[in-house]
Amino acid sequence: MSGDKSKQSAPPAAHGASARIRERLRAAQQRHHANDNIADFIRDETELAELEDEVTAAMQDVLEALVIDTDSDHNTRGTARRVARMYLHEVYRGRFHRMPPVTEFPNAERINELMIVGPITVRSACSHHLVPILGKLWIGILPNERSNLIGLSKYSRIADWVMSRPQIQEEAVMQLADLLEARIAPDGLALVLEADHFCTQWRGVKDESHMVNSIMRGSFLKNPELRKEFLQLLRR
Ligand SMILES: [Zn+2]
Repeated sequence: MSGDKSKQSAPPAAHGASARIRERLRAAQQRHHANDNIADFIRDETELAELEDEVTAAMQDVLEALVIDTDSDHNTRGTARRVARMYLHEVYRGRFHRMPPVTEFPNAERINELMIVGPITVRSACSHHLVPILGKLWIGILPNERSNLIGLSKYSRIADWVMSRPQIQEEAVMQLADLLEARIAPDGLALVLEADHFCTQWRGVKDESHMVNSIMRGSFLKNPELRKEFLQLLRR
């Protein structure tokens, strides 16, 4: 016997918000993997709130399947709702919310020197186990006179948006590089992401797992001196 579940009862999955959103994604033949943003397919705030209710109910089912008595255990009474909110609006925000506004401005000063932004704190979650990935990111940009520049603080905002999804480190840096390349159109783009994966520290081999990914594009790929300069500056 379970307690009063009326407050948490799941809507029939076939008619819930997730089913409608999935239907739109399929109709548009839009990929919706864990690390894809689907904000354009969520109708409005009301539908997002409905999705939150649906995730809450599903989380409540998970807690019950784990045989946790959420009726008498006051610590877990609001857990389903808290986790649903955390997923939709915090740790996986980059899946359900649109990219924060970023204004680009033309490179009026014709800056063509290497710019480095970082370290930017990265908080993500692995798609395999949904546990944290925490790391540091450095971005190197070599603009040309046709590049669009963005404010320094915007790099961390964009990075945060891409990382706030269940991710795989290699794909996360690739997604971020594609996005920055499309917006800034630099001569060269370099990204280095160093991260700790809790799926190997908290579970599994329980080993330290530190992973470094780098992406070099354009002039960083062609010019070893530039690449060397970037990597040397990172070490400081
Ligand atoms: Zn994992």
